[in-house]
Amino acid sequence: MYRRCLHTSIRSLGKLVPTNLKGKKKSSQEWLTRQLNDPFVERAKMMNYRCRSAFKLLEIDQKYGIIKPGSVVIDCGAAPGSWSQIAVKQSNADGLNNGKPKGLVIGIDLLQIYPIEHATMMGNMDFTRPETHDKIRSMLGNRRLDVVLSDMAPNATGVRSLDQENIITLCYSVLRFAILMSSPDASLLMKIWDNAEVPILEKNIQQYYRMVKRIKPRASRSDSAENFILARGFVGAEQR
Ligand code: SAM
Repeated sequence: MYRRCLHTSIRSLGKLVPTNLKGKKKSSQEWLTRQLNDPFVERAKMMNYRCRSAFKLLEIDQKYGIIKPGSVVIDCGAAPGSWSQIAVKQSNADGLNNGKPKGLVIGIDLLQIYPIEHATMMGNMDFTRPETHDKIRSMLGNRRLDVVLSDMAPNATGVRSLDQENIITLCYSVLRFAILMSSPDASLLMKIWDNAEVPILEKNIQQYYRMVKRIKPRASRSDSAENFILARGFVGAEQR
């Protein structure tokens, strides 16, 4: 339901080639071929994750243990929902891990999001809008965020400098919200596209967290500018 179907394929020079490419644009043909040959797409299907991005968060979380039972997690840019699926499990929002505290997961996206059990998914909402922040605040009550996730990416315009500017704007919006709403020692994980503004963003993040690190998980395509900034140990605005 959540993934585009690749109905049929043939094997050519060891590579699977979709047979339903007629009438499709070159970029769509390349996307379909890449999906068909991508081991993470296959694994995502087998493990019931809504998309391959799941493995980016899984790898980072397995290495750094950012989401713990009881964590209050916000997932910005959550559609179709694989990061929230993982957050539900790791935070024990589903309560399956008896005896461990139950977490809370809130996912937000501009797009509609199909419900995820034990998470609150808010579709058709722009994370950068103040009314979205108000809604999240009222859902949290007096709870604070332990983990702020952002896999948000703007729609590519094709103009590189504009795309870079747009993603940086999203990152600052996430950072501002994290600073206001995080609990002591919280973590922040955000997607960036590598560009000259990123070191400045990292410096700004360093003012609020003990550790800031750049990560390129294995599931992140090597030919993409995508990277993640992981910040741990939220200290607020204290002098460091
Ligand atoms: N992490 C997701 C998952 O695992 O299913 C995939 C996220 S996808 C790469 C990026 C998402 O960011 C898109 O669904 C897009 O609609 C969303 N997005 C971009 N700008 C946004 C904004 N201003 N507010 C909310 N969502 C946004």
